[in-house]
Order: sequence, then C-alpha cells, then structure tokens
Amino acid sequence: MTTHVLHRNSLIQPPRAVSGEGIYITDENGKRYLDACGGAAVSCLGHSDPEVRAAIIEQVGKLAYAHSGFFSSDPMEELADDLIAHAPAGMERVYFVSGGSEAIEASLKLARQYFLEIGEPDREFVIARRQSYHGNTLGALSVGGNMWRRRQFEPLLINASHVSPCFAYRDQKAGETAEDYGLRVANELEEAILQLGTGRVAAFVAEPVVGATSGAVAAVPGYFKRIREICDRYGVLLILDEVMCGMGRTGTLHAIEQEGISGDLQAIAKGLGAGYQPIGAVLVSDKINKAIASGTGFFQHGHTYQGHATACAAALATQRTIRKRDLLKNVVTQGDNLQKALVGRFGNHPYVGDVRGRGLFRGVEFVADRVTREPFDPSRKIHAKIKKTAFENGLMCYPMGGTIDGQRGDHVLFAPPYIVTEGQ
Ligand code: PLP
Repeated sequence: MTTHVLHRNSLIQPPRAVSGEGIYITDENGKRYLDACGGAAVSCLGHSDPEVRAAIIEQVGKLAYAHSGFFSSDPMEELADDLIAHAPAGMERVYFVSGGSEAIEASLKLARQYFLEIGEPDREFVIARRQSYHGNTLGALSVGGNMWRRRQFEPLLINASHVSPCFAYRDQKAGETAEDYGLRVANELEEAILQLGTGRVAAFVAEPVVGATSGAVAAVPGYFKRIREICDRYGVLLILDEVMCGMGRTGTLHAIEQEGISGDLQAIAKGLGAGYQPIGAVLVSDKINKAIASGTGFFQHGHTYQGHATACAAALATQRTIRKRDLLKNVVTQGDNLQKALVGRFGNHPYVGDVRGRGLFRGVEFVADRVTREPFDPSRKIHAKIKKTAFENGLMCYPMGGTIDGQRGDHVLFAPPYIVTEGQ
C-alpha cells in the first residue's frame, strides 16, 4: 500500500483505525483492539462518548474557532472557571494551548518572564530529572531526560541540568528507608541550585508520577514536600508536568494532590480533552499571574489555536462527564483491580521485576533477572516486542525502554479509559 503520510516509522504502515466505541478501537479490517493505554494515556472517556460528541457538534454549529488575539469565548471562559474551581491551591489563571509539549514550552517561558517582571533577569537555568519526558518540541525536549529522544537533537537544545529521578525500585539502597531515600534524591536539587548559583535558577520541572520514561513511577512519601521546601528556599519555581499523570489518571484530579503540595505552574493535557480535540493548558499561580499583570501585562508567547473554542467545549464536556459519572471512584476501584490482576497473573513471572502505579496508571517493568533487577540488553527491544505481540492479539499497551544513556529497563504502561469495567 502506498502512503503520502510521513508516519512515525516509515518502515511500518499501521492499520487504519476507522471507529471507536467505549474502550475499543476497530480497524479497517474489522479487527477490534482493547485500548488498554488510552493511546498514550489520552482517551480517558473511551471512544465516542455521546456527551462530548454532542458538545463538539453544538459548538461547531455556533462558532468553531475565533482567534484569541481578538476574542475570548464562552467555552474558553467556562473551562478556565471549571479548572480553577478544582485546581490545586494557589492556582489563579489558565493558559490554553493545544497539547502537552506546548504546555511545557509555555510553562518555561512563563517562568522566565516571571523573573524578568520581578527584576531577576539572571535566573536563566532550568533543572529537571534524568529519565523523564516533557515533550518533543525543543524547549520541552531540552528539559526532558530521555536520552533516546534527545540525542540526535542535542545541538539544538537549550541548556538544562538534570538530577536523579525518584525511582525507588531502581535506586533505593539496601538498608535505606523510603523517607531517607526520598530526602537523598530531593537534596540533589539543592546541590544543583548551589552549583549553578543561587539567583541563577528559574525553575525545576518534574512529573509527579513519571509516565512514558519509567512506567508509572510515583515518588516516595516526603520527596515532593522536600522539593517544595528547596524551591521555596531558593526562590525557584516548581513546574509540575501533569500532562500524562493528571486530570484523574491516578485517582485524584491532580496527581500532586496525593503529595500535599502545589506547584507554581502545572502543565496538563491528555486527559483534559480525552482525545476528542487537541488541547492542553498551564495552570498559573496567583504570584506569576500578578507579576505579569502588574508588569508588562503581556505574556510574550502565543499560538494560533490557543483557547480553540471547539477544543475548550470538548474539554469542558469531558470534565463535566467525569464528575457527573463519578468516574474518579472507578479509577481508584479499577486501578486496584488492575494492580491485583497484573500481580496475580505476572507477579511471579521470572521476567517481571515490578508492577506499580496509581489509579488507572500502571506500569509493568521487565527484567532479565528478578533478584538482581538486571535489565534486559537494550538491543533486544523487549518492550517493543511486547507491544507488537499485544497489538497483534488485539491489546494496546504503551511501551518504553532500553538501558541506553541512563534509561534503565523495559516496561509497558497501562492507562485504560476511566469507564473500564472489572471484566474488561
Ligand atoms: N509531558 C509528559 C509527561 C508527557 O508524557 C508527554 C507526552 O507523552 C508530553 C509532556 C508531551 O505531550 P504532547 O505529546 O501532547 O506534546
């Protein structure tokens, strides 16, 4: 079959998806796939949700799009009201974009502009963590610590420093308590700030539950509290990347709620619009909003499709549907069931090292040796083989792995829609 699409992988022509219903997608040959990862943790309401469809149709009938340089719109204003009403403490405004990478780019620039507005222009460094992913645009790729995705673009990237992730399965030492381990790795942030120079660091970026690069890895208790303390002590902004783990995926609307802190900027995307329209956003704290509003008043950034009326209408309907159907309860219940099922079925498998996660965000890590936790040789591409075999058998799961350049271990992610039932 010929194609004029430049697909992700030019060597493979993927099947054409033609319809979706609930947690299933059907391809051109009538084959049905159980979407156990929501694509990339996107389709949290499943496919063809009637209420979101109706909201999109209604909005397109009224006004599909109006440029945000000229207009606001009801869906944009109502979605912002809705998000702030349910946001972590201190969040005051919402900056809309079209996806996760854009949300990170906007967060980085908001951080930079904040320091210009308050007269601290020397704050030009960003610190993030190894084994993380924050998006594929150049700024987001620069802060991300996934070397496989970064490597060939290194000459184009901005300067960012990386500290250790909080990944107890891999890095907690024998005899070290979880709390001590969390403090040890969190304190690396302080060391990095001191090394770069106090007054030189603008922001620290982290995913509260690490998705694609590590396979649903939550931090140990106390880690994020310590991170917050360090950021506050040195005036560094905390940017939380909840693009994948946010909007209900881990059982609370925001993953950071489970850590008892808030960020200064928080990027959200995937579950925001559930894949019905491309949309992302940055939750902006009061102090950043005030600094810009009382300074230049103009955020020096913008995209043509920001605040897209139809995308906002779809996201608003998604969020209302999640609440109306009390789906976060199902995320917790089915998340526990999924964990038990995965542990029950694979917990003693010689090549399964760990089964982990929160809510309907679960990762299974594969190892060559369960006892030593030795990863597989990356050239074997175990994660890719598992994805392929699962897909051939009608199951979608999200793979990542290899031990190259600091990326340790193979895993697959499960992130099924919040409507999933126990039987499914
Ligand atoms: N941040 C995280 C944590 C992600 O998982 C992703 C995508 O997987 C992104 C950012 C980038 O989002 P997008 O692919 O919508 O640009």
